[in-house]
Amino acid sequence: MRLLRTLVNTHGPSGREEDVADVVRAELADVCDAVERDAMGSLIGRRPAATRAGRGSVLLLAAHMDELGLLVTGIEDTGFVRVIALGGWDPRTLVSQVVLVHGRKRLRGVVGTPPVHVLDEQARGKAPKIDDLVIDLGLPADRVRELVRVGDVATRDRPLQRIGDLVTGKALDDRVGVFVMLEGVRAAGACPWDLAAAATVQEEVGLRGARTVAFRERPRVGIAIDTCPSGDGPGMKGGGTRLGKGAAIRIMDASAIGSRRLVEFMEAVARDAGIPHQFHASGRGGTDTQALQLAGTGCAAGCISIPQRYGHSSVEAVHPGDVEACVHLLSAVIERVGELGDAVPPPPPPGEP
Ligand SMILES: [Zn+2]
Repeated sequence: MRLLRTLVNTHGPSGREEDVADVVRAELADVCDAVERDAMGSLIGRRPAATRAGRGSVLLLAAHMDELGLLVTGIEDTGFVRVIALGGWDPRTLVSQVVLVHGRKRLRGVVGTPPVHVLDEQARGKAPKIDDLVIDLGLPADRVRELVRVGDVATRDRPLQRIGDLVTGKALDDRVGVFVMLEGVRAAGACPWDLAAAATVQEEVGLRGARTVAFRERPRVGIAIDTCPSGDGPGMKGGGTRLGKGAAIRIMDASAIGSRRLVEFMEAVARDAGIPHQFHASGRGGTDTQALQLAGTGCAAGCISIPQRYGHSSVEAVHPGDVEACVHLLSAVIERVGELGDAVPPPPPPGEP
């Protein structure tokens, strides 16, 4: 819990991942031989193949460090801070939230709306647009202008908490995936291939960090680790995954169809090791999987998912048992990836069409 709590409670919206990268870099250095930071800010930890035959075949893991955020576009004469979205917010989940504006110092603010008493019938039933929302720092405009500039960012202020059997907080998407990657690599024995573990940037604004990482690493197999919407939350239409029922092997979403060979392999690995597992198949959403799959000449790509309720809100929630199952599954996949053999072709040498 200590590491997950630190990862979740650290702030790092898309494009401003430096603080969370500091935490991840120290952890990656602990479980890898070398850690590198690329030009965009993604971190890549590497471990050379345990076998001579496996050298040159790369298993690339990717979990994104960034979280949803807001970016300051202006300060009104009232002192209210105008913002635009960094990532896919549902504006309804921002109303009445406490946020932190990362200006010259860290300032706490609220996203307020007019009280219900003053709203007419029509306005009461309407969801706000993100452009209508402002952050109130409780300070006069001249003081706000001293402390906050256009381009500063804001994040949700919601530390990790336990509720019943679950843990809840902001940015579990995808710090819980970063946690699974770190702990999966830590728990794994020797990897027969070259192992690269990447904490990527800017996933929430379009899988950007994973693209450059995959281009550089030229993976033979790429595995993203990210959350997936569980089917058991209020208002969900049923079907899909359930919290507490294990690691989710992702078959498909709107951005990628997982490699069939890899899906079957991950299922076999989970079955052999007695790891509770389930499947996520949906026509919506997306993860770094797509960026891994389509980089260069492409690779066999898949995704291990942590089922989650209330994604992209301040009360994202996951089950620790599922997190543990994902760690076990990932570490077993790392140890056994060589068994995929010719089922997944290596990328052609650089320069070849
Ligand atoms: Zn995510």
